[in-house]
Amino acid sequence: MIGVLADDAEHSVISEFFELFKTPWEFYRSNSRCDVLICSGKQFQDSSAKLVLIYGMEQKAFDRENGIEILSRRSNTVLSYKEDQIPVYGQCLTFHGANAFPLMEVHTREPAACEIASPGQTIVRLGYDLFHEIRHLLTRGQPVTHARIPTLELHIAVLRDLIVNYSIPLVEIAPVPSGCKFIVCLTHDVDHIGIRNHKFDHTMLGFLYRAIIGSLINFCRGWRPVGYVAANWMAAFSLPFVHLGLAKDFWNQLDRYLDFEKGLTSTFFIIPRKGDSGKGANGPASSKRAARYDIAEIAGQIQRLIAARCEIGLHGIDAWHDAVKGCMELEAIRQITGATDVGVRIHWLFFGDESTATLEKAGFSYDSTVGYNETVGYRAGTSQAFKPLDVEQMLELPMHIMDTALFFPAHMNLSPKRARTVMNAMVENAGRFGGVLTVNWHDRSIAPERLWDDVYVELLEELKSRGAWFATGAEAVSWFRKRRSAVIESVTHDGERIRVKVSLASNGDNLPRLRLRVHKAPAHSNSGFGQREYHTSFIDMDFNESSEVELPSDF
Ligand SMILES: [Zn+2]
Repeated sequence: MIGVLADDAEHSVISEFFELFKTPWEFYRSNSRCDVLICSGKQFQDSSAKLVLIYGMEQKAFDRENGIEILSRRSNTVLSYKEDQIPVYGQCLTFHGANAFPLMEVHTREPAACEIASPGQTIVRLGYDLFHEIRHLLTRGQPVTHARIPTLELHIAVLRDLIVNYSIPLVEIAPVPSGCKFIVCLTHDVDHIGIRNHKFDHTMLGFLYRAIIGSLINFCRGWRPVGYVAANWMAAFSLPFVHLGLAKDFWNQLDRYLDFEKGLTSTFFIIPRKGDSGKGANGPASSKRAARYDIAEIAGQIQRLIAARCEIGLHGIDAWHDAVKGCMELEAIRQITGATDVGVRIHWLFFGDESTATLEKAGFSYDSTVGYNETVGYRAGTSQAFKPLDVEQMLELPMHIMDTALFFPAHMNLSPKRARTVMNAMVENAGRFGGVLTVNWHDRSIAPERLWDDVYVELLEELKSRGAWFATGAEAVSWFRKRRSAVIESVTHDGERIRVKVSLASNGDNLPRLRLRVHKAPAHSNSGFGQREYHTSFIDMDFNESSEVELPSDF
């Protein structure tokens, strides 16, 4: 059991942190009996805990009393931890002495943690405020420069390593559904639906430029084959026939996604009304933001998607800033799908400080807007669905990979080959940390002039080979809710067995089972956590109802 001693103001972020690192814990009380005590902010308490972790970015009375000397103070720094780098957004202290610690400032190699060991207890002082960092990630998010680092998952990994390495057995419910390595949510923002809706506007002229000139440039760079140029030129020359209704509208690709995703499932976010650009942060949004299709015009296609077990969500216009308008946009989706729970991603990723609360008020069950327009990565530092700190129920399904961020010249401007490398690193992270990888491939991205279909199909093959569970946004969010409803009631050791009593509120669903993970402490005494290589092993046992799970202790 972990006890946490912290100021009241930190309680909500601490509670959310332990929904993501799902291991037994409680707020520390004077009669608490805990193996690990975490002291945060200004709080400190003498206790009998085997391991005491003191986080904090200010010098404390504890430091002075124990002769801990501060070497430097930096804000917005990066720590190195084994093979990883962990950005720290608040202030970070480094300490004199205590070399060879694995957590250190990346450039100077100054230690950001130090250890005081005494018989029966080890105290580790860490020079940053863990929960301040978690709050920063879940509210403000990471800048583009650190987008590719799953910082929140790394904070969990450091804490887990500390506990296990000091020979304290650890039980958690891993963010990994039974029978797979991680979750994938394939999503599609439906922005256009047809080029026939665009006559001599910026969209059509942009298409002609990119199809005729842009594709030639990409060919000359060696990024794309000659067949791609030919396909784009053909599409450009067929445009008058498309407008006359004599050729197929090549931007209408929803059915082709169903072919690509046969046997899988995905979520389509649909714009609720035609011709409305909505409001931006500084007044009316650009007229380019307005969709040229009406939801009623594609009712037949939507029904085909639903019949293929796809989910329909809202691609919101004004829902991000106005709960009444959000409610109307939600109703437009409900009327056509009949679904009670509706998820949302806002068009152009418009979002403000109060958007999550506004979306919850409008009645959405989840949002999937938290991501980047200009890059791919982990805006909130996590690969898990989380509950934003200002809402009661709604979950955030963070968006990680968006096609336009990878390929637009104004954004990452990657060749297909480089895009594959970037995405594969994120697939690798998904295998390592679990959770969900949310991919957004726009409706027309598999059509001329983009023709990002090959890259998408390869990504699907890679994800299949890595053992992903392909879920709709709603299914993924439901699985995270199920995990949130689980409680590890007790852990008892008796010789050869570990008995873990778990309770689970939801029963009888079709979602994958939950995964109980028991970590085994390494077979050595706690003589300084920086002195050797980490080695931890764990064993998994799946469960799907309130029960007592038995595991061998000698794995
Ligand atoms: Zn959009």
